Amino acid sequence: MSLPISADPNAPIIVWFRQDLRLSDHEALTAACESDSPVIPLYVWDISGKSRELGSASRWWLHHSLAALSKDLDGHGSRLVIKRGEPLAILRDIIKETGARSVFWSRRYDAAERDIDATIKSALKDEGINAKSFAGHLLREPWTVRSKSDTPLKVFTPFWRAHSANLEPGDPLPVPKIPAAMTNVQSLTLDDLDLLPRKPDWSAGFTPVWAPGEAGARERLNQFLENVHAYGDLRNRPDIEGTSRLSPHLRFGEISPRQVWHAAMKHPQSEGRRVFLSEIGWREFSYNLLFYNPDIGRENIQEKFDAFPWREDNAALKAWQRGETGYPIVDAGMRQLWQTGWMHNRLRMIVGSFLVKHLLLDWRAGESWFWDTLVDADPASNTASWQWIAGTGADAAPYFRVFNPMTQGEKFDPNGEFVRRYCPEISDIPVKTIHKPWESGPLSLRQANITLGETYPNPIVDHAFGRQRALDAFQSLKKAS
Ligand code: FAD
Repeated sequence: MSLPISADPNAPIIVWFRQDLRLSDHEALTAACESDSPVIPLYVWDISGKSRELGSASRWWLHHSLAALSKDLDGHGSRLVIKRGEPLAILRDIIKETGARSVFWSRRYDAAERDIDATIKSALKDEGINAKSFAGHLLREPWTVRSKSDTPLKVFTPFWRAHSANLEPGDPLPVPKIPAAMTNVQSLTLDDLDLLPRKPDWSAGFTPVWAPGEAGARERLNQFLENVHAYGDLRNRPDIEGTSRLSPHLRFGEISPRQVWHAAMKHPQSEGRRVFLSEIGWREFSYNLLFYNPDIGRENIQEKFDAFPWREDNAALKAWQRGETGYPIVDAGMRQLWQTGWMHNRLRMIVGSFLVKHLLLDWRAGESWFWDTLVDADPASNTASWQWIAGTGADAAPYFRVFNPMTQGEKFDPNGEFVRRYCPEISDIPVKTIHKPWESGPLSLRQANITLGETYPNPIVDHAFGRQRALDAFQSLKKAS
């Protein structure tokens, strides 16, 4: 039997934080705070196993992001309640304990999480609880951007055209006046969640690079925007800090895309600003693909690839993961990922292409490694980008486009500075051959203290051979279909 939803103004409202770890521009929090009711900010570490488990680097980020959110709430006289378990059971417990009559949250778009939220909403409503969801993770929710004939848009350019036509996101909301904490609600400590990596703990290199939390996100955005006009020229250069590095902040909702959009629009119109906003568009597009292709993390969007002859080669996969392929730009990228939890977009494309094409390994192996090691590992952007790079996606790089790791290195790391930073064992190789050490003469290698195959690997696959093998595999698929 459905009970009437209570209008008791003094009944507490639970605000259930998930991937929206901020206080400003937070519709659910603002709606709760405007009601004059006590507000219970809640985070639940979901151990129901119904959604994809966070990777290790993401758990590191989450720990620090929750610490920042908790501190920010303390600063407002409020308190983050932390729980671990099955979210519906926990919500019911808190409702029973506090007399709460409403639960507010921001919407998620991953299929498993949508299922969880729909089930919880319907169960709570049946119990007379006002369960309400709000937007906030995207500029436009996926179902609002469709073709003129009302179908999902599968190609970025028409998607972004439709999405950005008359796009005027409302003004971001300020931090609301948050009522004082209900001190009687039991909470775990953050350490009880045991989110930080231990075996192995490789996160030492993360701390100097990142400041998880809303303040860190804002600072990162403001710093980046001072130079946004140069973004178009610098964004492909891993040796230069030319991109925003906002991805983990956006992933965990420490800043909203609406805040990013408005802040960017305050800067003068430039090519850099236009391109930057279109990258935010790629994020929106990835969420669109995720929404309309719920199996995007597991199944090829183009079914014909189900018959693709991927190889099994654990030694090659390990060499790729460790940054020991013998191709400096690939190795430097993989080591940047391991050491900082992040990798430059140009390198993600190069190392991704290398895995699926030169090594002919299934894109899902790369996706899983990224999921575990990226601090910005995102259910939409990671899966959609891997399908794009593998050529299996909706709007994908054509399969015959095989990135050449030497020319990519020479073009985007022209002085070899990036490679030297992450592959110090070859740092003395001259610029001319830094991206192809095997072409250095024996004298030059000796002078640089390098014995190929010992101090730095020989290429694990010959470039021309790997490229041709990938093209042949593609041809075989074409013939079969
Ligand atoms: P900027 O260049 O400053 O761009 C601003 C923001 O736009 C980013 O923070 C990000 O939110 C969004 N964005 C930029 N490029 C893309 C893109 N191609 N697709 C979707 N969103 C984009 N991005 C993730 O956020 N999480 C992932 O797990 C992820 N996995 C990827 C895997 C592969 C194989 C590839 C090729 C790309 C992946 N990307 C992923 C996209 C992109 O590489 C990162 O978003 C970007 O490198 C983040 O750095 P930035 O914040 O400095 O980006």
